[in-house]
Amino acid sequence: MSAAMRPSGRAVSRLADDWVERVRAASDVVEVIGQTVQLKRVGRNWTGLCPFHNEKTPSFSVNPDRQFYHCFGCKAGGDVFRFVQETEKVEFLEAVELLSRRAGIPIPERRPGERAVRAPLLEALDQARARGARVSGGPRP
Ligand SMILES: [Zn+2]
Repeated sequence: MSAAMRPSGRAVSRLADDWVERVRAASDVVEVIGQTVQLKRVGRNWTGLCPFHNEKTPSFSVNPDRQFYHCFGCKAGGDVFRFVQETEKVEFLEAVELLSRRAGIPIPERRPGERAVRAPLLEALDQARARGARVSGGPRP
């Protein structure tokens, strides 16, 4: 049963989905946008000068309830990930990674190349666990 030894693709993408949602929950759109755009509270929303086009009067609006931004001038809009993608010129996953690091959330392994870096650590943890189990008797399953 070699198939059982490999993690299923579904389990991995489920992990990634959970991670994206955790990062989204930890990344307030007003806070993240407020780091690059000077926002002013107007009623329930926040407004500022749009970072995506030149303007002198603010038509850029951030909605904290919907965690969404929108520009009435150039029609730019989206969620917190979209904003980072547009301002940092990165792919979706890179945007999530940036916000993940910012929020202090561990980034799950996704590229085969990263395996080489992380595997020795995981192996060391396994060995430590095995050693601990031998010494103390360990928690029984
Ligand atoms: Zn705009």
